[in-house]
Amino acid sequence: MKRKTVTKRQRMTSSDEGLFEIERFKKCSKTFVIKNTLDFIDYMLFFNDVRDKLILKLKQSCLQSSIKFNLHVDSVYERIITQEVQDLAFKTSNTLACNSSDFNKLLNRMFDKLLSEQDQFLAKGSGWSLKTIDVLQLRINIVNPLRGGTYIDLPEFMKDKKAIINVKNNDDKCFKYSILSKFDNRSNKTYLNKKYFKMLEKKSGLDFKCIDFPTPISQMKKFERVNDVSINLYSLNDKDHIFPLYICDIEKKKHFDLFLFNNDETSHYCYIKNFSRFVRSQKTKNCSKLIICKRCFTTFGNNPCKSKLWGMKGLIEHQHNCRKNQLGRPIMFEEGDDEFIYFKNYKNTKRIPIVIYADFECILTPKKPDEYIQSCEKKKKHMLHICMKL
Ligand SMILES: [Zn+2]
Repeated sequence: MKRKTVTKRQRMTSSDEGLFEIERFKKCSKTFVIKNTLDFIDYMLFFNDVRDKLILKLKQSCLQSSIKFNLHVDSVYERIITQEVQDLAFKTSNTLACNSSDFNKLLNRMFDKLLSEQDQFLAKGSGWSLKTIDVLQLRINIVNPLRGGTYIDLPEFMKDKKAIINVKNNDDKCFKYSILSKFDNRSNKTYLNKKYFKMLEKKSGLDFKCIDFPTPISQMKKFERVNDVSINLYSLNDKDHIFPLYICDIEKKKHFDLFLFNNDETSHYCYIKNFSRFVRSQKTKNCSKLIICKRCFTTFGNNPCKSKLWGMKGLIEHQHNCRKNQLGRPIMFEEGDDEFIYFKNYKNTKRIPIVIYADFECILTPKKPDEYIQSCEKKKKHMLHICMKL
């Protein structure tokens, strides 16, 4: 099936109000448009006006699967001197999202991208100015259904971590095998010996009848509740960075860290046998074992430190606040990123014993209230000073 391109005329001629679907390609891609019915001529006012509708649609689309989405805005620019008019479109690249994503933040980034594209166009100095903003298009592509199923070979950089057990199953039950891998004592843990796994299932006492195979993420909570266990689930984003997909409320005595790997067709669960090794290379080049927060990947050293949290005690104190935050991986700037200046010589830093922050205030009254209103001249006197003595 060949995909047809929706023209601007089609986007504009529909009489529907709000965010409406204009195109569907198979089951995996939908295109929605929203018109600038209030005739905003400021991009941010228009974007803020449609933001809630976009977030609602994105959240609905993420219920069963992860998605990639992009924005596309159609506008008309004119050259005042020559009265020339031209249609222009600015668009963003695809962004990966799942139901735990912060859509407000993702949209802000996309709006910034659209604005910077416009700025680049205007900076060329050809005398164009914005005449109308016509329509915003949201295209959503379903990446894959978030259900773990049959075996997928992991990429080399994931294998090199030596932190994951990936059972070579030929059915849809990889969730079950990855859970049972925690109890596997064999030397070759990737080989699927069904008799052996049946024995492990019996020995573990876990009930797998309460879930479907392939297993959707939405059934994690049910499995946890029925078996009195806890599960954390991690995946990779489009930059191959690990991010938390599902994190349990409280880690139980029987706890499982799982990895959900996706390719274009399917998803596959694996068992994370060593969490520190699994995440460490993403956080530091240091080879020593780190204590890591499983929600936000903040790391804690093992050596006592007066200026920051450290050790297991530090992690517990951190977790108390971390639980209040939305699930996610803090994105830090990267080396070579020109937008940031960064400090490398930590060896030259010194602890200082005391820091004082002081604020200085005073109250002003107008000398002659009537005159003050009429003129902008300075006609105030200081009435009261508040000083601080150190
Ligand atoms: Zn944390």
